[in-house]
Amino acid sequence: MLILHYTGMTSAEAALDRLCDPAAKVSAHYAIEEDGRVWRLVPEEARAWHAGVSFWRGERDVNGLSIGIELVNPGHEFGYRPFPEPQMTALEGLTRAILARHPIPARNVLGHSDVAPARKLDPGELFDWQRLARAGIGLWPDDLPQADTIAETGDDIAGVQIALARFGYEAVVTGVLDDATRCAVSAFQRHFRPDLVDGTPDAGTRRRLAALLAGTDRKQVG
Ligand SMILES: [Zn+2]
Repeated sequence: MLILHYTGMTSAEAALDRLCDPAAKVSAHYAIEEDGRVWRLVPEEARAWHAGVSFWRGERDVNGLSIGIELVNPGHEFGYRPFPEPQMTALEGLTRAILARHPIPARNVLGHSDVAPARKLDPGELFDWQRLARAGIGLWPDDLPQADTIAETGDDIAGVQIALARFGYEAVVTGVLDDATRCAVSAFQRHFRPDLVDGTPDAGTRRRLAALLAGTDRKQVG
């Protein structure tokens, strides 16, 4: 897996200090500043401590199975702002190189919020996943199914939960829109439908989920 984060601190210096402080017990393989400077902090073959309690496609040891990249950004707590062009360009280059070295399926290119929806928001709805997908990195739901194939109002919460779980999220099929499901839906929206993140599995959300599942089944990308 490749897991993207934001640092969520007031300055790049503070974030890098923390990532290099053994007492903080947090680390990532790379950090990228807003001006595009890339720091290699942990060798790729070593385990870094960036994901915490996480889940994706049946795996809970996300730290042991992933490369983590921290993008310098104050985050939702300290003045969330767009990721600037030099930072995105550097990320694209770094990610391309990582994907050339490791067989990471497109559907395992994720945000921290995808693997820990109840705890994390990063890298957040301002992160341009669509751009990355256009560059061949990760997925984006382009081929949406016909609107009339997806019910406008969904009582089928179990169906949404099954689809979320099939795609990779930790979703338990309870048939009710509980807090855990709202968190998973929000995480999905934050990544794949960032203009409306409200935790409601509306038709637009379900169409995107169906498109991604159809695409991953068709391409068998892992
Ligand atoms: Zn994170």
